[in-house]
Amino acid sequence: MRRRKFLYYCNLLVAAVSIWPGKLLGRMSLSNTRFAGLATKDDRISVIAASLQIEGQLATMEKWGYLYVNLAEFAQTLHFGIYTNEERRKTVLYVGQERITFSADNTFINVNGQIVQTTLESLWLDNHMWVPLDHLVAILNKYTTLNLNLNKELNQLSIERTDVNVTGIKIAEKDNGTMIQVFATKKFSEKDIVLDIRYNYFHIDIFGAKINPQSIAAAATTGIISKIEAFQLGETASIGFRLKGEILGRDLVLNTDSNDFYVNLRTREVLGVEEEQAQPGGEQTQKVKDDLDQQKKKWLVDTVVIDAGHGGKDSGALGYSKIKEKDIVLPIALTLGALVQKNMPEVRVIYTRDRDVFIPLWKRTKIANDAGANLFISVHCNSNLNRNANGSETYFLSADKDTKATEVVLKENSAIEFEESEDKQRYEGLNFILATMLQSVNIKHSQYFASLIQNFLNDKLEKVGIVSRGVKQGPFWVMVGATMPNVLIEAGYISNKHEERILSQTSTQKKIAEGIFNGLRQYKEDIENAI
Ligand SMILES: [Zn+2]
Repeated sequence: MRRRKFLYYCNLLVAAVSIWPGKLLGRMSLSNTRFAGLATKDDRISVIAASLQIEGQLATMEKWGYLYVNLAEFAQTLHFGIYTNEERRKTVLYVGQERITFSADNTFINVNGQIVQTTLESLWLDNHMWVPLDHLVAILNKYTTLNLNLNKELNQLSIERTDVNVTGIKIAEKDNGTMIQVFATKKFSEKDIVLDIRYNYFHIDIFGAKINPQSIAAAATTGIISKIEAFQLGETASIGFRLKGEILGRDLVLNTDSNDFYVNLRTREVLGVEEEQAQPGGEQTQKVKDDLDQQKKKWLVDTVVIDAGHGGKDSGALGYSKIKEKDIVLPIALTLGALVQKNMPEVRVIYTRDRDVFIPLWKRTKIANDAGANLFISVHCNSNLNRNANGSETYFLSADKDTKATEVVLKENSAIEFEESEDKQRYEGLNFILATMLQSVNIKHSQYFASLIQNFLNDKLEKVGIVSRGVKQGPFWVMVGATMPNVLIEAGYISNKHEERILSQTSTQKKIAEGIFNGLRQYKEDIENAI
């Protein structure tokens, strides 16, 4: 009789679970013998998760005056992932990106590797994990984007998915500083995200973001970050990070494959710049004051570094009739510099070399960084064992490389072989991916700059019979460490009999310089109009 009555009520519940009076629910006990040994009150609670389109019930049990739920049933009802290791009596609940591990007879809960202490033990009964419902609600509210509300009067647990679109952050220590990864379910563009330092806090303000401030602020801190505070201010989510020290700079990196983005807080320069910091006074260290004006100023093209490849003991590539790359690229670089000085008197030109000397690769970018340059242009000529190889191409720095670019990358990076051993050590252990991540904001500009140069260069070169091989990307040492947009131009193949001949002509060298200059002029105009 009792059983039939229960089923009857159950059917009613399916139809009208949300309005069912709690007192009545309380009387609908299941005679469950599994927990007969415990002083429990076997009961059921209604679960309503309208935004997840879920309605159901959960068995509960009372112990020491607290309600417990069977975690497996909870997961099943709400369609969460679950894994139980019966031998070790551990259960992992997967909610979105969060991994929450409960251990039997233990008050510690592991949330994404972080230990959270609670006041009540989880229980192991009949090979199932039972957890205190109050704790479960608190943990899920704090660490997930769900909003749970337990109404003990109505014996009802409501669960809403908040319209959160920034779901979490992860802070990691890197070689060069601290990296903040921001997880998002919506694509944010660069203009939605403002990076700023206010008082001792570094802020990421995201327009159009919805956050669960509690769960964002609960992320583990490391590196230069000692504390997190998060606020929802109308349509903007503001996440503040208390800094333990000063940062040298910060970079925003939007992930192209997902909605996530990264913010790097640089506390150490990876290459070459350490010396600069060690200098007394260290005035040169470009402390980023982070106001918008300064950010804009960064992109104004007022200082350009022109880098003639190789030099001195490093001849670069050898041509078809043994002409040296270093001797062709120097006049191109000097002609380009003269064009800039003549047509853009407001722009400062700095050469990494203006004569036939050897300069280590790392020093070339250091020269550019020290000068606070906005652009770095490296001029080279190509060569290949295949004497038919021909054409011009422009590279921007990337950890990825076009498959066919490998040879060019190896050739240009081999300049290191001419460097002293103490210089060579600078490149050891340097991670290209990390180095390029540091540059990601610049990479977008570099790519654009490269495309302009290649177009304008081709306008000049196709007339003398040098075809365009297009814009390419590759990991070039000479560009690593540069804190400004940078490109590397391979003007043509000196290993090709025809191209060696025309590249050796002063008239062609002038055309190449003009092509690069036209690209630079267009870039300057476009960038300065955009800011
Ligand atoms: Zn070269």
